[in-house]
Amino acid sequence: MTEGLDAELAAARQRYVDAHPCSRQLAERAGKVLPGGNTRSVLHIEPFAFRVVGADGAILHDADGHHYVDLLGDYSAGLLGRGELVAGTIRGVLDRGWSYGAMSEPETAFAEAVVARFPSIEQVRFTNSGSEANIMALLTARYATGRARIVVFAHGYHGGPLYFGPGGEPLQLPFDWIVLPYNDEVAVAEAFADHGDRIAAVLVEPMLGSGGCIPGDPAFLATLRSLTSRHGAVLVFDEVMTSRLAFGGAQELLGLAPDLTTLGKYLAGGLSFGAFGGRRELMAAYDPASANALMHGGTFNNNAFTMAVGAAVHDSLIDAAGLSAVNERGDRLRTGLNARFESSPLPFTATGWGSLMNIHPVPGPVRSPADLGDADPRWRQLLFHDLLEAGFYLAPRGYLALTMDVSDDDTGRLLEAVEDFCIRRARLAHERAK
Ligand code: PMP
Repeated sequence: MTEGLDAELAAARQRYVDAHPCSRQLAERAGKVLPGGNTRSVLHIEPFAFRVVGADGAILHDADGHHYVDLLGDYSAGLLGRGELVAGTIRGVLDRGWSYGAMSEPETAFAEAVVARFPSIEQVRFTNSGSEANIMALLTARYATGRARIVVFAHGYHGGPLYFGPGGEPLQLPFDWIVLPYNDEVAVAEAFADHGDRIAAVLVEPMLGSGGCIPGDPAFLATLRSLTSRHGAVLVFDEVMTSRLAFGGAQELLGLAPDLTTLGKYLAGGLSFGAFGGRRELMAAYDPASANALMHGGTFNNNAFTMAVGAAVHDSLIDAAGLSAVNERGDRLRTGLNARFESSPLPFTATGWGSLMNIHPVPGPVRSPADLGDADPRWRQLLFHDLLEAGFYLAPRGYLALTMDVSDDDTGRLLEAVEDFCIRRARLAHERAK
């Protein structure tokens, strides 16, 4: 009989390989033209990623005939689900025509909806991604303050070239960064005391998302607000993920108004999207008719599909009640997960906020990335493979982002699968991180 975590993981991987021969072939073909067969690093699965052939509602279908409950929701971009409103709006654009290279009404309607939803955003500009939105927000802050230095937080993720976790450095944009520990008010106060007159901006996620769904301590985030105000720096909230937590975003729940906010992911129903916006006096520099106007290009900034869907979903799908429902479902799921982990000898805990969460292979509590230091990645992988085999897709790192297509029935069955995992794998509990 095979024993031990390594052996169980090897067996689970082998079952995955055996069950995905078509995906394997497609991955081998992809590997000839895409490095590692991949064009979005986070989607890599060891030893190769299964290939999706279609999706409907909360279900993903793979090339090997399996289907999975989609609990990852395209890493949070899929919040609004795959319903008729988004599909019908896209069909409407197909009927009217696209690629205008000119202005049209939906971008105004979309911008009006964003401004109405987030009181700290008086004016907004669209981009193609959250990464671009963050780059633009930082450049805006540097321009407005005439300063160069930017405070970010370790394990923060603000886009491909704005990643401050392990391995992020080679591709970081060459800004003048100060990387501080998350949820550490003292470190930020010291940085401002030492060189507050050189800090252009503080860029922060109200919850560390990719860094493990670790909520920001309200006192920490409030300190960022007061220090930036006092020292004339720009506070940028990266709400690419967290804006889904309430109609007015995490900033509404926290009662804080940043100077600039960046948005992305789900706001255009899963189409390519990003936006940065905030105080009128900061954004006014982009008025092309103004003296010394800042030039912000972007062929696809106002592409007809994104603008139409963005405008349409704000009239109906994105309302306070819909967002509350999905976030309350998330809170119940996380409570249910932690109840199972607490009564199991396995070293797991779930962190997060509302519909965004991460299962970690540590007993918890997790208040900062340092609390994940002992996480054994083999446990993450074993949980991932066991849940995939049971028909549930979440990120290999244990991240889940519920969509509006996911039901209580789906989350209930996930809890049963997790309970089953805890029972079947209990005898491995003595294995500690290497
Ligand atoms: N900020 C945060 C908080 C994110 O989670 C992400 C994407 N995971 C980004 C920015 C980058 O967005 P995009 O992938 O659209 O460039």
